[in-house]
Amino acid sequence: MAQYEVVIGLEVHAQLKTKSKLFCACSTEFGNEPNENVCPVCSGMPGVLPVMNEKVLEYAVKLGQAVHCEINRKSVFARKNYFYPDLPKGYQTSQFDLPICEHGRIEIDTPKGRKTIGVTRIHMEEDAGKSIHSASENVSFVDLNRACVPLLEIVSEPDMRSAEEAVAYLKSLHSILRYLDICDGNMEQGSFRCDANVSIRPKGQETLGTRAELKNMNSFRHVQKAIEYEVQRQIDLVEDGEAVVQETRLYNADKGTTHSMRGKEEAHDYRYFPCPDLVPMVLEEAWIEKWASELPELPEARRARFVGQYDLPEEAADQLTAERETADFFEAAANAFDGEAKKIANWLMVDVARLLNDTGLTLAACKGAPEDLAALVALVEGSTVSARSAKDILADVLRDGADPKALVKEKGLAQESDSGALEAVVDEVIAENPAEAERVRGGDKKVVGFLMGQIMKKTQGKANPGVVGKMLAQKLS
Ligand code: ADP
Ligand code: MG
Ligand code: ZN
Repeated sequence: MAQYEVVIGLEVHAQLKTKSKLFCACSTEFGNEPNENVCPVCSGMPGVLPVMNEKVLEYAVKLGQAVHCEINRKSVFARKNYFYPDLPKGYQTSQFDLPICEHGRIEIDTPKGRKTIGVTRIHMEEDAGKSIHSASENVSFVDLNRACVPLLEIVSEPDMRSAEEAVAYLKSLHSILRYLDICDGNMEQGSFRCDANVSIRPKGQETLGTRAELKNMNSFRHVQKAIEYEVQRQIDLVEDGEAVVQETRLYNADKGTTHSMRGKEEAHDYRYFPCPDLVPMVLEEAWIEKWASELPELPEARRARFVGQYDLPEEAADQLTAERETADFFEAAANAFDGEAKKIANWLMVDVARLLNDTGLTLAACKGAPEDLAALVALVEGSTVSARSAKDILADVLRDGADPKALVKEKGLAQESDSGALEAVVDEVIAENPAEAERVRGGDKKVVGFLMGQIMKKTQGKANPGVVGKMLAQKLS
């Protein structure tokens, strides 16, 4: 492993969140009856003409602007010719020579710090339909609901050097698409798909090694596993004196392996040529400026702002800004909170994240507002409730929208901070445990925890640990 360098370039297909398809008015809705969303245009009937969906152009340009691409003022659709039952026209309308965007970059987080990955190009194209193979009968069906649904293909430079970097790039791109609200990013349903080109070369070698293209990975985890397996397979080949061959390989999620789907010989010759049915798109400056002005604050900028404005560590800012919804929730809670924003960040990243994970809920689906979380954290910071109790009622507050103050009262969770009342309990515990008390006096700090535990037991966990700690230290010094 040490003497090889891993080289990875990714091709991502992002399905756009438009209401209608790329060249016709059919719905893009997922999960309808087969062939429900189909018309003569997207089923490739003779004599029909495509009409470009302007939203697709807008989304493509906005993504290009978000990843610092040059926007080509003139852009052309091309026909990519191949035969397959789910491609009714016999060609896919895509882009070739003059894609809409080129020469961009995306920042990623690596263990060695920030790194820039080049974006070679972004182009617009239509999706194909779906073949459905019957398990019981010896027949296949074709569903054209997905045919002509708009996609953006985002091609990276071969700039990634590990499976982790590849996943970090995918997460950054995923996050940007979600911020722009142009793709739902659902990998399982295939609205965010990725092909990974993987090669190895001896360290120090300039030229690229022969690559394999990996397909069929529908989660970040699969991408990671598939690349790791493939890298090891290529190293083993080279070590055995064999050569890596250029081919397309499929990932098998059950086995965690990749196997050959087709070699270079079977690769298609797509015979690209400009589509005569669609005129070249010439972009007006006014549109480009308008779309640029509509971009939201993007994850990279927001992350930097969070570090500065809320004094968050880089990793926390990274985690909180990955999804716009989380970032918005954090900001609203932090602004409603009269203390360090870091406290809110920790609650969100640990306990709230766990709650959402366990319940399968999103923040949007929760009844509790950011202000409720802020109020709960304020109760902990003000020593009104213990962190333990606050965690116990987090679900009621966040999921069900209960008022934290009222709930603490109702459940009798308020901490005992009154020193008079606590002193009696502390004295009692010291009297009941003379040997332990003596060890603390002798300097054995570990035993303090035991005494604290006894005090918590007597107060049903309601004693304010700060106050008790001070009292014990005073009495046993
Ligand atoms: P194709 O059109 O056949 O898919 P491209 O030249 O467009 O080929 O490359 C597709 C992707 O493969 C790009 O992301 C590119 O960075 C990556 N790539 C090309 N050569 C290599 C290589 N030797 N090793 C790893 N990735 C590569
Ligand atoms: Mg490819
Ligand atoms: Zn249609």
